[in-house]
Formats: sequence, structure tokens, C-alpha cells
Amino acid sequence: RAARKALRVGIVGGGPAGFYAASRLLSLPGSEQTRVDLFELLPTPFGLARFGVAPDHPEVKNCEHKFEETARDPRFRFFGNVQVCGTASPDATPSSVPNTHPSALAASIPLDTLHEHYDAVLLTYGASLDRPLGIPGEDTLLNVLSARTFVNWYNGHPYHSSLLAPVLDLSKLDHATIIGQGNVALDVARILLKDVDALREYDVPEHVLAELSRSRVKRVDVVGRRGPLQLAATTKELREMLALPGVAFETDQELLAQAVADVDAHPKMEGARGKKRAMGLLKGGSKTPLAGADRSWSLEFLKSPVELLPSADASAEPPSPLEGITSPQSIGAVRYVQNELVPSSSSSDPSSYSARATASTSLSPTSVLFKSVGYRSIGLPGLPFDARRGIVLNDQGRVVTPAGERVAGLYTSGWLARGPTGVIATTMFDAFATADLVAADLAAQGGQEEARGDVPIEKLRGDRRVVSWEDWEVLDRIERERGRVKGKLREKITSIEEMLNLLP
Ligand code: FAD
Repeated sequence: RAARKALRVGIVGGGPAGFYAASRLLSLPGSEQTRVDLFELLPTPFGLARFGVAPDHPEVKNCEHKFEETARDPRFRFFGNVQVCGTASPDATPSSVPNTHPSALAASIPLDTLHEHYDAVLLTYGASLDRPLGIPGEDTLLNVLSARTFVNWYNGHPYHSSLLAPVLDLSKLDHATIIGQGNVALDVARILLKDVDALREYDVPEHVLAELSRSRVKRVDVVGRRGPLQLAATTKELREMLALPGVAFETDQELLAQAVADVDAHPKMEGARGKKRAMGLLKGGSKTPLAGADRSWSLEFLKSPVELLPSADASAEPPSPLEGITSPQSIGAVRYVQNELVPSSSSSDPSSYSARATASTSLSPTSVLFKSVGYRSIGLPGLPFDARRGIVLNDQGRVVTPAGERVAGLYTSGWLARGPTGVIATTMFDAFATADLVAADLAAQGGQEEARGDVPIEKLRGDRRVVSWEDWEVLDRIERERGRVKGKLREKITSIEEMLNLLP
């Protein structure tokens, strides 16, 4: 067998999945000749570690140190500001993107081209859309937005850096509702209710801090379709919410008592100990009593939104600048259907019970609504994609056609492969497993005399700036320095244009 000269792997997406897969590929026995090129849409690396993880959880971002180590390996190259697309022309901006959109500043390269130039291409481009509620009012009323958009905004994502003005003005809103009860929902609730001064030391952009300090949000309802035992949020996040100074908490005590009894009656329930701890925490509540509290939040169970209704006070709406065109109205209330829990056919474990709508409905006022029912990936034209689950079709990471046939040389990992659930550690194990699979498949194919030609980076460049790892290190230093003078971790640069102008 001829010895392989160099194993070349192209990775699409520079979030945790992409970086962990790269680090694994470069540390496997016999990987001295392996080369990894990573293509990232933004000029900045790290995906949701930078733009998802909450700014007041800086310890979670420690994974970035590991990624930096990988990036400094001479066998690794970073190509930032490069959008991998499914279309044919490397110069084309995808037609769905107006040329004023920040992604129009990115170079683009078709997936086919990568496929031709690498022994294996690993897709880890994550989930950049959100799941809709699919109910009336969702797309027509003002002050209805996805948690993802809000999270991107407070984390300084360049696509959402100017989200709030004039779309959402926190200085005019007092009552927020979040649909969904996962950790993302609690992140949003915490950022809305936490004293803004307690956020200043992290990397929240200055314009976001300014907007948050004008916020008049006093009440946040976090609403879920199932009960306390099916709560998706973890104990750590619940504890943090309950410990917020000056913020009271309320929930349905009867439901909680029932949940505690259910855990006691089913000691073998999945995660029973954790659930018991979480129920105990919720029963204990917050130290701040509701009466007289300046700010409060609630966990509301067994409710699904069925309709979003406009604010009754239409006169409060700003006049339309265009004559004859009616201004959209703001949300004023949510209509819910009351649910009941029903056991699943396969298990008697109460934590797996599902929600079933009853005939009873209720109406609750709100002045802003955040949808936090999950992120969703997008497919690339030509890529086998399961639109219902929002993932690339794959068999343990190997991309397959709808008929189940393998697409040679194409792999996927992370949220794109598994769906938008799981913490960074889950993503890491997943990426390691996929990297092992890539290496094993390529080893099984045997050696290859000639290395494939290099990917046509020069052609790809066109008039758009491809951002190298050294370029990112320049931006990183500038962000840290701008942060240092303000006494915070970093001041993120939120404009891609500014980032590119700052590069040598
Ligand atoms: P991503 O992190 O989304 O990375 C995908 C990358 O691909 C992005 O950089 C994106 O810009 C890039 N990309 C997209 N399209 C293209 C394209 N066409 N071409 C090239 N590149 C592209 N986990 C924890 O452990 N602790 C936490 O506290 C925590 N908080 C979270 C908070 C929020 C709001 C969210 C949403 C998630 C949180 N997670 C947390 C989960 C964690 O962020 C994920 O497990 C992890 O980021 C998934 O990694 P990924 O690489 O699959 O996707």
C-alpha cells in the first residue's frame, strides 16, 4: 500500500463541534500528516460559545482556550468570513441575502468545491434559525421575537447588533413573556431581570448595557406546555434565577407539591435525584417576597399559546410614516390553552409524560413575547436534509441520502447533526466520535499517492477579505484592550465592516 502523503479534512463551521473535531483529528495516532482547514461564516471563531453562552457565564467559554491551542497548530488553517454555500459560483452571494446584509461581506465557496478538494468534509455549521410557534399573530405583531435574536443581540452578534432600535424599545415595556422553559429561556429571563451593573464586568457590548439600563421590564413569565417534572431547564440555572437579588418568584404550589409526590412515588424515574433537588429549590422560592418586590418572575406550567393578540391601546402605537399604510400593532396579550399530562405509551415514568390540550383557555397580558422553543438548522441546496427535524440526514455522523446511501466523504456533527440540544460537553463527545469515524473511514480506504490540490483560496477571495487566525488574533487583542480600559472582559466589535477595516 502506498503511504498517504497528507490527509486533508475541510470543516464547515467554527463552533465547538468544528473545533473539537479538528483537535481530535490532529491528535489521533498517525495524524502527523493530517491537515485541517476550517471555514467559518463570520470573521470571528467559536460559534455559540461566543454568541449563545450567556455573558455572565464566562467560565463556560473556557473551552475557547482549547480551541486556540488547536488553531495555533501548524497543521490547522482558519478561513473566517467565508460562507460555505450550496450554489455553484464562489463569487455569488446567496440570492436570499440582500447586499446590505452583513453576510454579503463574506466570501463564499460552494460545498461541491470543498468536496472535490478534501478527502473528507465535516459539516458543523450549527443551527442558525429558530422554530416558530405556528400561531396567529406571531409574524404580524410588534414586540414578538425569538429568544435567539435577543440572545444574539446581547452577545453582540454582528447580524443582530442593532436589533432593538426601533424594533423593540425596552424603556416602554414592563411585562415580558417567554414561551419555553429551557436554559435559553432562563438566560433571557436572567438578562432581563438582573441588575445591569452586575453585567458590566463581562463582555456585554456597551450599547446593549445602555439599552438594558433603560429597560422597564418588571415581570417575566416563563411558560411551558408541560409540568414541573418535565422542566427542561437545569438546576444550576434555576438556582441562579432564584438567587437574583431583589427579584421575587412565584409558581403554582399545588403542581409543585404534586410533582414532589410523583418523584417520591417513582424513585427510579430518570434523573430522580436532580428533579427532587429542582423541585425543592422551586418550593423554597426566592428570598425576596412577592409583596412589594420591584421585579419578579414566574414559572407557568401546562399552558400552550394558541394566539397572540394586539394591544388594546392602539393609540399608543407610533403613527405610520407611510400614508395609507397601517402601522403594525404591538402584542398585548397571549391566549393559552390549558394542557393536561398524559403518560406515554412506552413508559410509566412521569418525567416522560406529554401535554394534551383541554377545552379550557385563558388570556394573559404581556408587552413583549420571546419565543424560546428551539433553534433550527438550515439545509444547503443539494445536501440531504430532514426539514422536519432540522438536521442533515446522517447515520452516526456519516451523511446519507433519503434512501440511506452514504454520501462518500461527507460527514456532520454537533447541533447540525443531532438537533439543537446538548451542552458544549455533549457537542464535544459527539465531535470526537465523528472525528474518529472520519479517520477510521479514511484509513480503511487505504493510502493515496498524491495529495489533492489545494482549495482555490485565491479564487475564493475575490474582493472579499478572508480572515486568517492571525487576523482574528489582531481583533481579539483589540477587543480585549477596548474592554480593559472599560474594566470589562472585552468590548466586542459588532460590525463586520469595522472588523475588516481594522485588519492590516
Ligand atoms: P455552533 O456553536 O452554532 O457553531 C456553528 C458555526 O457555524 C457558527 O460559528 C456559524 O457562524 C458557522 N456557520 C453557519 N453557517 C455557516 C456557513 N454556511 N458556512 C460557514 N460557517 C457557517 N452550552 C453549555 O455547555 N453551557 C452553556 O451555558 C450554554 N449556553 C447556551 C446558550 C444559548 C443561548 C445557546 C443557543 C446554546 C448554549 N449552549 C450552552 C449550547 C452550546 O452553545 C452548543 O452545544 C454548541 O455551541 C453547539 O456547537 P456547534 O458547533 O454544533 O454549533
